[in-house]
Amino acid sequence: MGFRPSFFASPRKLQFLWQRHQAQRKLEKAIAAGKVTKPTRCQRCKKTLPKHKIQGHHRDCKKPLDVKWYSQACHDKQHSRRFQEKAAYRQMQRLSRIIGH
Ligand SMILES: [Zn+2]
Ligand SMILES: [Zn+2]
Repeated sequence: MGFRPSFFASPRKLQFLWQRHQAQRKLEKAIAAGKVTKPTRCQRCKKTLPKHKIQGHHRDCKKPLDVKWYSQACHDKQHSRRFQEKAAYRQMQRLSRIIGH
């Protein structure tokens, strides 16, 4: 979970990666301090898993302690869904430009 941004990342992407990295660190500290309890169950598929297999997903990096807990598989799905939504949105914008209204 190190901070290794791609060398060619844009400044906006870099800022986002940095914010997410900070959020992860704050969350880890909060867990270590006992402020946040890491569950052993995925909030999406409801599977019970060992703690190290549960991952915190930040909905908003400005709220490091506001996380959803997912298994690796669900976490991946969560991110690919957001990616797909963005791709669909971009395509919609492109289409509306061609159509002209
Ligand atoms: Zn899951
Ligand atoms: Zn996530």
